[in-house]
Amino acid sequence: MQSSGASPPRSFDSSKHTGGMKVKINIVRPLFPGIAELQEEFADCLASGMVTNNSRHVRKFEEQLQAFFSSRNPPVSFCNGEMALFHLIQAWKEKLGYGAHESFDVLVPSFTFSGTVNAIVLNNLRPVFCDIDETLTLCPRKIRKNDIPAKMIVAVGVYGNLPDIDELGKVAREKGMVLLFDNAAAFGSRYGGKFASNLGYGEIFSFHATKMFSSMEGGAAVVDEPQMVETLRHLRDFGQYEKSRGDVSIPGLNSKMQEISALVGLKNLDRIGFILESRSRRIGRYREFFMGLEKKGRLRNMVVRDNVLCTYLYYPVILEEEATDFVNYMQGMEVAVRRYYTAVHDLRYYKDKYAAMNLDVTDGIKDRIVALPLHTDMSDGEIEYLFETVTNYFGGRS
Ligand SMILES: *Cc1c(COP(=O)(O)O)cnc(C)c1O
Repeated sequence: MQSSGASPPRSFDSSKHTGGMKVKINIVRPLFPGIAELQEEFADCLASGMVTNNSRHVRKFEEQLQAFFSSRNPPVSFCNGEMALFHLIQAWKEKLGYGAHESFDVLVPSFTFSGTVNAIVLNNLRPVFCDIDETLTLCPRKIRKNDIPAKMIVAVGVYGNLPDIDELGKVAREKGMVLLFDNAAAFGSRYGGKFASNLGYGEIFSFHATKMFSSMEGGAAVVDEPQMVETLRHLRDFGQYEKSRGDVSIPGLNSKMQEISALVGLKNLDRIGFILESRSRRIGRYREFFMGLEKKGRLRNMVVRDNVLCTYLYYPVILEEEATDFVNYMQGMEVAVRRYYTAVHDLRYYKDKYAAMNLDVTDGIKDRIVALPLHTDMSDGEIEYLFETVTNYFGGRS
């Protein structure tokens, strides 16, 4: 149960748990339709041979996503979130007049998933690591203060939280930068009741099995410029703008969504109201419990602005100390936790390679932050067990 690491084992009273029984809680529990719900339509796809290449269900999925987002343009689906981001950045790079071999600086938080920064680097652009504020998202104040001549900002909706979009937008306009959002983890989150795309910014989402809304693998880009929809559709199809010769206007990759993913996505979109509502009730309970621990000085919670609706992919807590003991304790009690997100500027490939602003907040939390499971269909018993386990961890501390 205790780690065999350097820190001394700490005693705790497992008898406090109901009957001393452990309850196994995985880090995520994807919500998928049963095979019976898909059988007929997928059989049709297989029989007709129409399993990919912008077929019927992909188009229908995009239509229904457009209705969900109330977006000006239909979202463009992709095989996953990272490819959606890769191509969104690529499309903007081209629109700004840069060739594939040219480059510019892109402001990005270090506190994100490696995939965000990989998508920048693989577009031959240079990431400049930026700091976050107490919302764990990009800090506009620190960006305003710097004088790096970047052409683009990629903000990230970590854990479904959103940054101060008004302020970021202002800074971006003042400095002549394009503002994009990696909202891979922020499906359903809103800012002032709106999605980033409703405010005129390009954004992407991930529908990976670990995310709150899933098509198994999948992703989409939502953009405000009709022209960019066309570019993105070409990019996911090798860059082909016509099919008779397969002529390309820009080099793309094969990053199309398959019909089976669109089918699963459609079924889950049918119950997105249930998903968001279920999460919202559980989020309320988590916030109340963890704000109580914050008041006792045990940990800190992620700040969510009043005008932000956060759908919470995981529930992050910031401990007062390095997280190894807590992680081992929780794992020992069979509650899976994740050291997520991380500081990308610290990862092996990125270390000391790219420019960085002052990263005080990022460096201050990166080894103390832990993501706890928060499933859409988590039972009361599981939630109580998770809370009790956390309470006992702190109870066992002097
Ligand atoms: C999950 C995630 C991704 C990757 O999305 P995939 O669909 O798995 O490719 C990228 N960025 C962030 C911030 C994420 O949370």
